[in-house]
Amino acid sequence: AKARGRNGYRFYAPSMSAEGLDRLRLEAMLRRAIEKQEVFLHYQPQVDIDSGRLVGVEALVRWHNPELGLVPPARFVPVAEDMGFIGQLGQWVLAQACRQMVCWDEAGLHVPKMAVNLSVRQFERGSIAPLVAGALREAGLDAGRLQLEVTESVIMNTGDALEYINDLRAIGVGLAIDDFGTGYSSLAYLKQLPVQTLKIDRSFIKDIPADADDEAIAVAIIQLGKSLDLSVIAEGVECAEQAAFLLRHGCRHAQGYLYGRPAAPGEILARWGKPQGQ
Ligand code: C2E
Ligand code: CA
Ligand code: CA
Ligand code: CA
Repeated sequence: AKARGRNGYRFYAPSMSAEGLDRLRLEAMLRRAIEKQEVFLHYQPQVDIDSGRLVGVEALVRWHNPELGLVPPARFVPVAEDMGFIGQLGQWVLAQACRQMVCWDEAGLHVPKMAVNLSVRQFERGSIAPLVAGALREAGLDAGRLQLEVTESVIMNTGDALEYINDLRAIGVGLAIDDFGTGYSSLAYLKQLPVQTLKIDRSFIKDIPADADDEAIAVAIIQLGKSLDLSVIAEGVECAEQAAFLLRHGCRHAQGYLYGRPAAPGEILARWGKPQGQ
């Protein structure tokens, strides 16, 4: 039997979910999570380091189950992928994120760009461009305000990925390579891709300024972005030294706890919206 916290919430450690019964229960609970309205989004600010201006937000999915408590996405996104549920979950995230942008617009907060994560598994059943176009149309959001984050694994492990990515570009959405530097994309491939943004993974940022190797990697990614005319954003920026380092080396955009943790829509509005009457 597994330990149950005093509050009755349990946290699923990786070893526990490997246990067959737990995994099946987790899957069953996850399968009903959307209809039960247990799934919601938090949004993390992306800022221009120099001016402090908000340039976008990233949508990050959250699951609160009454029995399990708050389950982190690192736990349930892979489960959703394995059980063939990521398509539905991803579609819900996309629709909700697009609607949220319009809600903020109406409340007087203009968030320039919404970044949404796509799983490699969402590319396995053909082009997702029609679904993305549908979410945009239903919400009434301009395609240019949506940026889809894909990892290098999407590009390298999906047969028709290049075609599907071109389809997405054709409807006008932006594309970013997430966790850049952690996968194994070839640089030659990068040249062919219609992406606009490289996102430096947190693993290269977290030990700046202590780790000279990480500094060198971050600088190399920034240079690569410059050479290929891509914008570069750093994730996981937690301290002012990191932000100063990035700016000094030509990376203008950052996301991380220094600027704000992922937060509910109302908190984003309160922090970044105009004061009343302005
Ligand atoms: P990611 O796409 O690399 O997202 C960034 C993660 O880093 C988020 O964790 C965010 O909360 C965390 N983070 C941001 N700034 C900092 C910082 O300064 N310090 C530290 N220590 N962490 C920071 P989160 O929300 O737990 O998400 C984890 C992963 O789950 C995401 O990594 C992404 O791969 C996946 N994920 C989240 N939402 C979705 C989604 O809607 N769809 C898909 N397919 N995957 C998602
Ligand atoms: Ca991401
Ligand atoms: Ca990621
Ligand atoms: Ca990352």
